[in-house]
Amino acid sequence: MKVVLENLTKIFPSRAKGGKEVVAVNNFTYEIPDGKLVGLLGPSGCGKSTSLYMICGLQKPSSGKIFFGDDDVTELSPENRGVGLVFQNYALYPHMTVKQNILFPLQNLKGEDKLAKDVMLERAYEVAKLVQIDELMDRKPSELSGGQQQRVAIARALVKFPRVLLLDEPLSNLDARLRLQTREEIKRIQTETGITTIFVTHDQEEAMSISDEIVVMKLGVVQQTGKPQNVYDDPANLFVAKFLGTPPINVFDGVVKGGKLYLGEDEVMAVKGVEDQEVFVGIRPEGFILNPKGKLHCEVQNVEVMGRDVSVVSKHSALSAQSANKAIRSIIDADNKDQIGLTEVTFDIKPNKIFLFNKETEERIRLGE
Ligand code: ATP
Repeated sequence: MKVVLENLTKIFPSRAKGGKEVVAVNNFTYEIPDGKLVGLLGPSGCGKSTSLYMICGLQKPSSGKIFFGDDDVTELSPENRGVGLVFQNYALYPHMTVKQNILFPLQNLKGEDKLAKDVMLERAYEVAKLVQIDELMDRKPSELSGGQQQRVAIARALVKFPRVLLLDEPLSNLDARLRLQTREEIKRIQTETGITTIFVTHDQEEAMSISDEIVVMKLGVVQQTGKPQNVYDDPANLFVAKFLGTPPINVFDGVVKGGKLYLGEDEVMAVKGVEDQEVFVGIRPEGFILNPKGKLHCEVQNVEVMGRDVSVVSKHSALSAQSANKAIRSIIDADNKDQIGLTEVTFDIKPNKIFLFNKETEERIRLGE
């Protein structure tokens, strides 16, 4: 079931007299393809949760429309949309067993949707098996680990066979190892069921690792959408470039003069078709290549061997003086570490790992062919 958002907007009025209203989501238009997992991603307050709550019907849009397939669901109540919702705090009923928790949404079905007892039980066991908690059906939530509780919450969301599954920061309460395991589980469950799923997170690594597509938001406005790798490789603006990637992208002040890019005194590369101007220069940590005859001359500050890779922190006299980024963080293949000098290191830069941005708008400046 594809989900289509058309100019979706949510404005919260100001509580204080004369205060400013909040545009939590601003003109969000997007088609979530049938059967895919889409990650809504952005810093706190960017409008991710509000978008999700509008899709599930808990919040009413100020304007715009929401379609599930061809059905306009904008005015439908959450119960009538056919959505399964999983929150960060699993919100299980503590006095009920796992089985009772999973059965609960089915027992509430009314009229012609009402199911026979044995059908309900069969469904509860089917989803419990899918999320691998069928052995724990008689336990109470307090007798489960955080990861197991989250699986129960997912089973409970799936038991009504929803048309769309919505997950709001479902991994935030889990420790690092469990987060990793559970996010893989979510991907497996989503692939097995083929339910169109929308996943809200502020964690870019999490979103990139499991999403078929990501939507990056800032202050209620969608900045970029696409396959995670494509967005990472081809950011539309400085915000997106900075938000994706660990360690984060290096950002320096640079100058384009006569078709060439300068970082400090160093002429780094040809930038055809770009007018003379000051620019922000973003370089991904993996974009630095060690080369004794390279164009960028830096002073070594710290070298950390991390198995397969080496992290080199260095300083460039002119850049460090003028840019917000004081240090250059680069990731080098450990096989080449002998080329790192004791005090000096020289780099070339991979052309596909360096991006230019307009100093005022922070939009990407595309290079000519
Ligand atoms: P977080 O990751 O912190 O949950 P988010 O990206 O999910 O953030 P939202 O919760 O969607 O962000 O909030 C978007 C904006 O709308 C914020 O500025 C928030 O303060 C505001 N907002 C959210 N709910 C309300 C409300 N009920 N009344 C007024 N303003 C609200």
